[in-house]
Amino acid sequence: MRIFDPHIHMTSRTTDDYRAMAANGVLAVVEPAFWLGQPRTNPGSFADYFDSLIGWEPYRASQFGIRHHATIALNPKEANDPRCRSVLNLLPRYLDKDGVVAVGEIGYDSMTPAEDEAFAVQLALAVEYELPALVHTPHRDKAAGTKRTLDVVAESGIAAGMVAVDHLNEVTVGLVKDTGCWMGFSIYPETKMSPPRMVEILQKYGTERVLVNSAADWGHSDPLLTVETGKAMLAAGFTADEVDQVLWRNPVEFYGQSGRLDLSSVSPEASFEGSSIKRGGS
Ligand SMILES: [Zn+2]
Repeated sequence: MRIFDPHIHMTSRTTDDYRAMAANGVLAVVEPAFWLGQPRTNPGSFADYFDSLIGWEPYRASQFGIRHHATIALNPKEANDPRCRSVLNLLPRYLDKDGVVAVGEIGYDSMTPAEDEAFAVQLALAVEYELPALVHTPHRDKAAGTKRTLDVVAESGIAAGMVAVDHLNEVTVGLVKDTGCWMGFSIYPETKMSPPRMVEILQKYGTERVLVNSAADWGHSDPLLTVETGKAMLAAGFTADEVDQVLWRNPVEFYGQSGRLDLSSVSPEASFEGSSIKRGGS
């Protein structure tokens, strides 16, 4: 089983996670820029974070033979903080970079006017830079949030096939299915989607335009739930080819639209700007 996790926050994860992922067939990941759990107080914090997403973190992934790409954006939650608004002005510099394969995560957290504005501006950037957009749907009031999300996406003029609407569930998948947007599902250990629930959705809605991710971050999450979903699919009678479509070819097709995916095998670089993950520099 080869696996491409299209949404995982490796900055928050350990080298043990990288090792376990590599041992279980995870060969490539996309790390979206997001909220770090504590408010950032100025745009400079974002610049350093974005730099690490296209510098240090790909280096760290390479130590385990994993290809790492990033998506860059002002996340929905911090779009509400006036101290962070000018991050929008930083984005063009990053959207030109090789390792950046989409604009994201964008979308709604609490559906405020500030979020409306940041969402629209960043969809326009995706169009301008000819990049896909990774769109987060709110965890509260999900159906209303997803409907509004789809309206804003349609108004922006971006091609539906360039948009992944993420964190869907049984309630919201039907809203997205016929729009032409990609359908993203985050598989979590306890709440929200689980591998068995994901299998039922695949049985009902098929394997086309479906992305399955672990969305693992600093919260309770598990970077191997993509693998578990693949196993659950096989146990439920899906073919190995269908598993490969969902867990590998679909994310390759979606992010491949950036023209920037590099899936050649990666060998560990000795260091990144003089630093390594080894102790004592040896
Ligand atoms: Zn995320």
